[in-house]
Amino acid sequence: MKIARVESFLVPPRWCFVRVESQDDWVGWGEAIIPKRARAVTGAIADLAENILGRDPDRIEDLVLRMRAGGFFRRGPVLATAMAAIEQALWDLKGHRYGLPVFQFLGGRVRDHVNAYSGIGGDDLKTMIAQAESRVQQGFCGVKLGVPESFHYLEVPERTDRFIQLIAGLRQALGPTIAIAVDFHGRVHRAVARKLAHALVPYDLLWIEEALLPEHDDLQPSVFDGIPINLATGERLVDRWAFKHVLEERRVDIVQPDASITGLFELEKIARMAEAYDVTVAPHCPNGPLCLAATLQVDAVLGNVVWQEYNLGIRDFSQYLENPEALLTDQGRLHTPTGPGLGITINEAAVRQAANGPLVKDPDWQHGDGTYAEW
Ligand SMILES: [Mg+2]
Repeated sequence: MKIARVESFLVPPRWCFVRVESQDDWVGWGEAIIPKRARAVTGAIADLAENILGRDPDRIEDLVLRMRAGGFFRRGPVLATAMAAIEQALWDLKGHRYGLPVFQFLGGRVRDHVNAYSGIGGDDLKTMIAQAESRVQQGFCGVKLGVPESFHYLEVPERTDRFIQLIAGLRQALGPTIAIAVDFHGRVHRAVARKLAHALVPYDLLWIEEALLPEHDDLQPSVFDGIPINLATGERLVDRWAFKHVLEERRVDIVQPDASITGLFELEKIARMAEAYDVTVAPHCPNGPLCLAATLQVDAVLGNVVWQEYNLGIRDFSQYLENPEALLTDQGRLHTPTGPGLGITINEAAVRQAANGPLVKDPDWQHGDGTYAEW
């Protein structure tokens, strides 16, 4: 059996699906992410395909090594997501060929379900409470919100207090049984981040995510020293080597690898590394259905995953799947799809028809003085 073809499809709202086909007609699907880099990612998929065409799709580790190392340019998020999508597709193909869900190749299930948390939005407390309460009514026990505005290197109390009062109001409305995570999204610089983290301690957050940008996360142990709050990071880190220092230097309490950047089996390996440091894993997944399906296969075999990000409820993905019900939450829980491969069936005709439709782009932010602001 040999790999015959690798194709990529950019589909609304903002997803990149990859299809791998073998010479004897086995097919697998995976998903890349494309934030403002769609052409670079699809180009990388085409380049990496040249490393594996004509080779045995069963030899996934060998193919990953050839994609990761077979070229002078290596690692980096564009190549990583391209490789991750192809790798997911290879697992999906293998699962279909042998008639087994991917988790059966990874040691088998250790759990019955994984708890999901959902993102909430809005710029004001009323909207945030309304969104959070509707998630709670759906059965979710955890919500996550971002910092709704940009913060400059230093800020006056009026601006930081507004955000702190937002979190205080949300905690008061939801009570102590609902987990609240806050995503700084790398938008906050160290002085303001430290001030916010300190002020947010009384609201007992599940975690602060990307409290500093990943390129600054080496500062976290000193910046947040003595502040009793959980820190999480990892959605932009590409592989074990990127997580190595995060774990060794105790920079966070939670790691958040994304299966569409690390790949499916690499996520499992990162989680095993985290296990050795008593660090929990909350896989990042604001992505599309294939990434979620790939992540759930890995969640199934890991005891240290306690929360799974779930945002598919916000975006309609059903048109791309023959069995969308496999990825719906049940009282805030996600059950592992048990069909072959990733456990979902792509509606290929719908994907081909939607390809090259309009894509949602990440916004551009700037500070009041006109300088660039992290989004
Ligand atoms: Mg995040």
